[in-house]
Amino acid sequence: MSIGSNFIKNIIIDDLEAGRVKEVVTRFPPEPNGYLHIGHAKSICLNFEMADAFNGKTHLRFDDTNPVKEDTEYVESIKEDVRWLGFEWDALFFASDYFEEMYNRAVLLIKKGKAYVCDLSAEEIRATRGTLSEPGTESPYRGRSVEENLDLFERMRAGEFRDGEKVLRAKIDMASPNINMRDPVIYRIAHASHHNTGDKWCIYPMYDFAHPLEDAVEGITHSICTLEFEDHRPLYDWVIEECEMPCQPHQYEFARLNLTNTVMSKRWLKKLVDEGVVDGWDDPRMPTISGLRRRGYTPESIRAFAREIGVAKSNSVVDDKMLEFFIREDLKLKAPRTMGVLRPLKVVITNYPEGQVEWLETEVNPENPEMGMRQIPFSREIYIEQDDFMENPPKKYHRLFPGNEVRLKSAYFIRCEEVIKDADGQVVELRCTYDPATKSGLDFTERKVKGTIHWVEATHAVAAEFRLFEPLILDEEAGGETASFLERVNPASLEVVQGFIEPNMRDVQGQDKFQFFRHGYFNVDNKYSTAERKVFNRIVSLKSSFQL
Ligand code: ATP
Ligand code: MG
Ligand code: MG
Repeated sequence: MSIGSNFIKNIIIDDLEAGRVKEVVTRFPPEPNGYLHIGHAKSICLNFEMADAFNGKTHLRFDDTNPVKEDTEYVESIKEDVRWLGFEWDALFFASDYFEEMYNRAVLLIKKGKAYVCDLSAEEIRATRGTLSEPGTESPYRGRSVEENLDLFERMRAGEFRDGEKVLRAKIDMASPNINMRDPVIYRIAHASHHNTGDKWCIYPMYDFAHPLEDAVEGITHSICTLEFEDHRPLYDWVIEECEMPCQPHQYEFARLNLTNTVMSKRWLKKLVDEGVVDGWDDPRMPTISGLRRRGYTPESIRAFAREIGVAKSNSVVDDKMLEFFIREDLKLKAPRTMGVLRPLKVVITNYPEGQVEWLETEVNPENPEMGMRQIPFSREIYIEQDDFMENPPKKYHRLFPGNEVRLKSAYFIRCEEVIKDADGQVVELRCTYDPATKSGLDFTERKVKGTIHWVEATHAVAAEFRLFEPLILDEEAGGETASFLERVNPASLEVVQGFIEPNMRDVQGQDKFQFFRHGYFNVDNKYSTAERKVFNRIVSLKSSFQL
């Protein structure tokens, strides 16, 4: 499917027509410091689909310039997630493979008098940067000679100094109206082992220096990033030019994806994992790609969502219901329908012959007749949903109550004759009668009933666990703005119930998806399901007020 028109696409068309660009090359540059989330999916779709639209190429590049937070576990998960989304990179790179090149470019800057070693602490540098209305103050080390800077920078690399003792700064303009141009730090010391380069380096380039060089080394033509980097663009261009890179990429900014009731920053997601609030990065409540996958989202639904939200130039918050809309759309025709009782209540049909089981035939998906028919057993004992019975119902309740008749989906009408309670007064069983004339498919018209409920035959039923989700972090949480992050976690984000499914569901596999009649779309959890016992994650309920 093609991407709609957007401002970035228009820029590319202009570049190609004017001959400024021969082949479009984009990149997706994650830092391997966590798992990818739905916001990254937007960026992945944009970069890959944009290049595809012009027969270009897309690189997957690990922006691994910060040794402390990075890990190969994240590298592997990111590759898996990009592939799962349906994209294959034309080339795979690690920014850390360019450390030598970056070092040499920094040396070039020093030689040109465009960079200097500074001994100010991080706090002092921050304090002397000035403000929007006031220029910064020049560092006392700004005047160091080229020779001294070359010597100190080499010794920084050799490990002679402690973390934070010295940095390399670009020498640009402490009075620039753009604070990013006030002698930004481009190298820092970090005695830390790197997941790729081990202990080879103890100095690491800063993002603003590394990123443009990475793009240039790879011949990226359109470097797409989020809006926060708009003010960094002059620095991006400065680095490319002053480092005398042979190839000149350009940075373009688009609005990052924000979703209601969704926390997307990797820092916070990691905290949820580390604190055990969730059972891993792939917890079905997580907005990570792996979480969405385990929840039951399909790559198609996520790509359709990314296309719909498009590429904007200003930040906004997208309704999380929109994502749900796309998975419903995708599964509507694909997912088999089935019945599952989440909170069972036993019903005995007293006028149905004891010991008899009949097999009823019903459609696998009424909206997609090609999916054929399925067989479901019916007998004297069934389970219905506890919610589908009320002893003293309000006026518009059309399900079961004493004396009332309802339709059992794909079976018969039953009437509630008697309510059985335990010693505490809890309803534990219903006694009903059925009417053989009302069998589904016989076009019975003599009486009408207002309610249709689902059920599962009791002797063939297969026990199953259902996991129902609410957002992990609510926008309107108790405690308001002042609450700490963990206090904002929704205590009702996970509900686990034990119920029953149809016997033909016995052999479902991890990641199989179904629509349970009236309950919504579910996915077979591949972490907790076993051969004997299936666990279902609810992807989404059926109804939504959301409209595109
Ligand atoms: P986070 O702050 O959530 O950890 P990040 O920007 O630090 O995200 P990176 O690994 O650096 O994570 O991101 C890789 C790419 O994904 C970047 O190009 C970034 O612009 C893009 N990206 C990250 N978050 C979003 C988002 N919410 N919407 C769109 N693109 C995003
Ligand atoms: Mg980043
Ligand atoms: Mg980050």
